[in-house]
Amino acid sequence: MSKIKSVYAREILDSRGNPTIETTVWSDNAHGAVASIPSGASTGRLEAYEMRDSDPNRFGGLGVLKACANVNQIISKYIVGQDPLKQNDIDQILLNTDGSANKSKLGANAILSVSQACFELGAACAEIPTFEYAAQKYGFPPASPTHLPSPIFNLINGGKHGAGNLDFQEFHVIPSSRKTFSASLEMGSELYHLLKKVLIEKKATSSVGDEGGYAPNLVSNTDAIELLVETIEASPYKLNEDLYLGLDIAASTFFQGGKYKISDVKDPMTGIQMGDFLIDLNRKYSLLSIEDPFDQEAWTDWENLFANIGKQLMIVGDDLLVTNKARLEEAIKRSACNAVLIKPNQIGTISETVAVIKLAKKNNFSVIISHRSGDTDEDFLADFAVGVGADFVKFGAPGRGERVAKYNRLLFIQEYLESLHPTS
Ligand code: PEP
Ligand code: MG
Repeated sequence: MSKIKSVYAREILDSRGNPTIETTVWSDNAHGAVASIPSGASTGRLEAYEMRDSDPNRFGGLGVLKACANVNQIISKYIVGQDPLKQNDIDQILLNTDGSANKSKLGANAILSVSQACFELGAACAEIPTFEYAAQKYGFPPASPTHLPSPIFNLINGGKHGAGNLDFQEFHVIPSSRKTFSASLEMGSELYHLLKKVLIEKKATSSVGDEGGYAPNLVSNTDAIELLVETIEASPYKLNEDLYLGLDIAASTFFQGGKYKISDVKDPMTGIQMGDFLIDLNRKYSLLSIEDPFDQEAWTDWENLFANIGKQLMIVGDDLLVTNKARLEEAIKRSACNAVLIKPNQIGTISETVAVIKLAKKNNFSVIISHRSGDTDEDFLADFAVGVGADFVKFGAPGRGERVAKYNRLLFIQEYLESLHPTS
């Protein structure tokens, strides 16, 4: 049995140039692993607590030295000596050491950095790739090179991730799951470049937002969807055959005074009116998915939309579910949605994240593994998504280092699996 020999956390920068935590763990048999933790901008109200220093003299208060100290001075004492293959025990120690309901004592960023690093160390000690380790450890079927998660490419960034005037946060193109991952990535990249040309021709800006998608100034959210349609029409691909459209409305970010104000419609809308607007959009574009169509507490509006069009597309809970088992149970009981966005840092340990995925699968929810808008060149999520047999990954646009690190790892995994299962 190998044992964890050291745990050490340090402060690095994420893709927004803000501090984040990176933890390195070593085993006594000379294996090592490193995990860095992302950070959201449109965060759900019930996400686990991200610990920041709030010291105005460093990084505008966003430093994570307290979280690092919690790892180095408190957590490490309990984790050193543990068996890296015993993830559940490690995560239980982390939960017990924190003891709070939302990981506010030590910080979910501190806790997840250790949980994830130990998970990667377990894979290293088992001497198998992380995706294979995840599948074996949690009893998911082995991965196949032709059935990897399909990428959801965020080609236009609005809301809190953009610089323009779009209310909706993300405008997606989603290659058909019949395509291999490498063919999907090629399609995403080609459309990304074609969209840039379309935006330049229209004299809309072509700078990119937090997740690498373009952040144009347009009149309305529908205009952004139309630009995607125009781009697809100028490409060799057929909409609703080779690929589909999707949206992350991130509605909690612009829900004010009980209403939704968007540039497409003159007056602020009630939940029912917002639902009708989205039903119309779906009728027009046959969307594959709509994420966070309503505020995170507007359960009745979710239920109504799901009753109306839930059989036609994925209705995805992100801020609604915050990778939290109790919230997912509530959504199942209420028939509020049929897909879950999985962000490990919304909950704070690998074991709890896997429990949510298992519950989702048992209830026929689609599973989407997601990055955060502030991310690092960490590629763990690619392995994790493959290991747990996720249906989709949402890693942003096929551009910017922290986004392509994850897509490139999926390319590697596909080739690795193909080499194990040669077709000719
Ligand atoms: C999202 O809302 O799906 C997202 C990835 O954004 P953030 O990380 O800002 O929550
Ligand atoms: Mg979201």
